[in-house]
Amino acid sequence: MNIHEYQAKQILARYHVPVPRGQVAFTPHEAVTAAQALGGKLWVVKAQIHAGGRGKAGGVKLARSLDEVETFARQMLGMTLITHQTGPEGRLVKRVYVEQGTEIAKELYLSVVVDRATSRITFVVSTEGGMDIEEVAAKHPDKLHMVTVDPACRIQPFHSRKLGFALNMPKPLQKPFYDFVNTLYSCFTETDASQVEINPLVITKSDTLLALDAKFNFDDNALFYHQDIAELRDPDEEDPLERQAAQFGLSYIKMDGNIGCMVNGAGLAMATMDIIKLYGGSPANFLDVGGGANKEKVTAAFKLILSDRHVEGILVNIFGGIMRCDIIAEGIITAAREVNLDVPLVVRLEGTNVELGKKMLSSSGLAITPADNLADAAEKITRAVKAKKVA
Ligand code: GDP
Ligand code: MN
Repeated sequence: MNIHEYQAKQILARYHVPVPRGQVAFTPHEAVTAAQALGGKLWVVKAQIHAGGRGKAGGVKLARSLDEVETFARQMLGMTLITHQTGPEGRLVKRVYVEQGTEIAKELYLSVVVDRATSRITFVVSTEGGMDIEEVAAKHPDKLHMVTVDPACRIQPFHSRKLGFALNMPKPLQKPFYDFVNTLYSCFTETDASQVEINPLVITKSDTLLALDAKFNFDDNALFYHQDIAELRDPDEEDPLERQAAQFGLSYIKMDGNIGCMVNGAGLAMATMDIIKLYGGSPANFLDVGGGANKEKVTAAFKLILSDRHVEGILVNIFGGIMRCDIIAEGIITAAREVNLDVPLVVRLEGTNVELGKKMLSSSGLAITPADNLADAAEKITRAVKAKKVA
């Protein structure tokens, strides 16, 4: 789960990680009140969306007067911000963060991730912080430095010294930087985060360290430990179809193709997507209905697939292990009737009671194309979708 920057900074502040002072605002008027309360002569108005790249897209503005704070807040609130991370549809800005402005001497990069290769928490730092870290990673990977932490001995002084060295941390800031690293590590582990990115981590003109931007990602499976964090979920930032799927206990991820897939089991779902690709098609989604799929779940899954207007055909690939194929067939038939299915549907069933299931499908009177195996199913659905395009 992701959270907004201002929420991330509230969590960091609780752990005494240095962040600028700021307040969230939902209207231009609130933004001005926030700036007044913060005081000073320089503020930053920042669009709050769950995506980076805001600076380059006009979502981060330095304001030198209260009038400017109001103008920028007015511009941002209600605008659809398109950054290189939002995709072409962009994100609607519903809140802005007003922060005390910082005089920056140097922008650095620091992130903490769970590295899947080593299964360990890893710090990534670079002296090339700011807005182009993706480019640095692509063109100058030598400018990224990684330090991996052994979970048995946790964070040790040598870790932070290595990181400070890689960042050419000036002498007076070394101790504050080591504290920064230690507190960030505690914050990361205690909140069950899976990623924290501070870009930029800045050295200010008055020689202090400050986390100027903050992105958190939390491990969904550990969220039940952290009610306070779970409450920060912003449904406006989530894909409406994925939200709907979660309500039915379906694992659904929208993709950009046109063949909807309904599969049981994550591994089989991925294999199904692969084989669609192999036959020249393009999956519209990943959808795992789970082991205990019933008629209601299958119907919900069908409706979900069809509410994506890009879907031009559906491939159902079910292995009836715990589930019996006749029950699945019944679910498919009910669902197809209920939603007035009008796109080609290819069904591959295998497992317990498969013959009965197939017979039910073929005698249902619905235009369902049966398939004998995965390859056959993929070939039939890609062909059907292409034929429909030509016709
Ligand atoms: P992102 O583009 O979504 O990653 O948003 P950031 O919060 O990282 O802001 C983008 C850039 O705006 C930073 O890299 C800074 O260069 C600049 N910026 C943000 N806050 C301040 C500030 O307080 N003072 C100054 N001078 N620049 C800032
Ligand atoms: Mn940033």
